[in-house]
Amino acid sequence: MKKYDVIIIGCGAAGLMAAVQLQKRKKSVLILDMGNAPARKITISGGGHCNFTNTHADSAHYYGKNPQFVKSALAQFSPYDTLNWVKSHNIKYVEREPGRYFCKNDASDILNALIYDIKNTEIKLNTNVIDIEKSGDKFIIKTNAGDFYTTSVIVATGGISYPNLQVSNIGHVIAKKFGHKIEPPRPALCAIKTAMFDNALAGVSVPVEIQVEKHKIVDNLLFTHFGIGGPATYRATLINSKHMIINFAPGNNIFEILKTYKQTNGKKSVSNVIAEILPNKLARFLCNDTRNIADLRDIELKQIANKINQFEISDGTAIGFQSAEITFGGVSVDKISSKTMESQTCSGLFFVGEVMDITGDLGGYNIQWAFSSGFVAGNNA
Ligand SMILES: Cc1cc2nc3c(=O)[nH]c(=O)nc-3n(C[C@H](O)[C@H](O)[C@H](O)COP(=O)(O)OP(=O)(O)OC[C@H]3O[C@@H](n4cnc5c(N)ncnc54)[C@H](O)[C@@H]3O)c2cc1C
Repeated sequence: MKKYDVIIIGCGAAGLMAAVQLQKRKKSVLILDMGNAPARKITISGGGHCNFTNTHADSAHYYGKNPQFVKSALAQFSPYDTLNWVKSHNIKYVEREPGRYFCKNDASDILNALIYDIKNTEIKLNTNVIDIEKSGDKFIIKTNAGDFYTTSVIVATGGISYPNLQVSNIGHVIAKKFGHKIEPPRPALCAIKTAMFDNALAGVSVPVEIQVEKHKIVDNLLFTHFGIGGPATYRATLINSKHMIINFAPGNNIFEILKTYKQTNGKKSVSNVIAEILPNKLARFLCNDTRNIADLRDIELKQIANKINQFEISDGTAIGFQSAEITFGGVSVDKISSKTMESQTCSGLFFVGEVMDITGDLGGYNIQWAFSSGFVAGNNA
């Protein structure tokens, strides 16, 4: 009966980065994954270019019950460490927005570099972990391919979104079994279903400011056949609310603009004025009024302006796990050491990456979290 020093459940970004550190420490390691290829999420991430880090990563860009939890891991393996690791593998990269880094060629460059770093580590694919038992100081990992034995376990099973990529909630089941609370999982970083818009708007893209509770998001919005998508919408799903207010003309006080037109260009139709500010289809949807602007009372102009500067959505629902980039919620960080990622209720058990109740903003923060937490567990398991 072979007993490994560490078994990692999940061959994604977090599990692989943990394995890199464990190999440096010369531990005997086995990675188990239910899928037929490693890190399938990395290869499709960032539209196939993997947005692998963001140098702005700090606790302000993370969500969950306790975002401060990320501080120690980000200090131990920072976005600059990720960047240096990428450079050390001669991966070509681009900074698309300040601090936001993508692979220049292909997301698989990141995967290949991780696999290169763990070339002495055993990986068993198509192996579905069903349960874990602890007996004395050893863990027994039960799978469809038999039992495996180890001194430490790193649970790197990710979230439950994108089920077609082969996902499971075994990480949550294991955590519960060993005394951890689960924050309810929900889909995030995805499109929103709403009946407030017309299908005809599908394909229109516009820069917006979205207010959800106390959060303001400034980014692009894309209308879809069922509602809204694009980065602004994705980011809005990080806050769990059906209600949001969209400003379709950030930085423009539409009421003041309309009043000025009324005085200086009163023969222009109000809908033509709006079409000078917004994409044509959106302008027509928000204001289809062919009267001369001079014929409208200020109160009517105010109503039109409010639809543009403060469009209220009251039925917004995240589209679902099917196409959500991330699972919000997961294993509560309450009883996990932020310095080592080890469970405080079961020694030798570690949690890393998306399986935990830590969710990063859109922009490379989630892979950075997977790397940082994986690095830390790999140094401590
Ligand atoms: C379409 C898409 C695009 C994204 N783009 C970006 C991006 O550009 N930048 C960014 O920062 N983040 C991005 N993300 C999010 C990011 O990919 C994930 O947060 C990150 O990869 C999570 O890594 P992980 O190792 O924690 O989990 P995963 O990569 O999900 O790995 C978990 C592994 O565990 C395995 N597993 C689960 N259950 C079992 C079981 N019972 N037995 C055995 N194995 C099991 C799974 O098969 C999987 O391989 C994107 C996500 C998606 C879906």
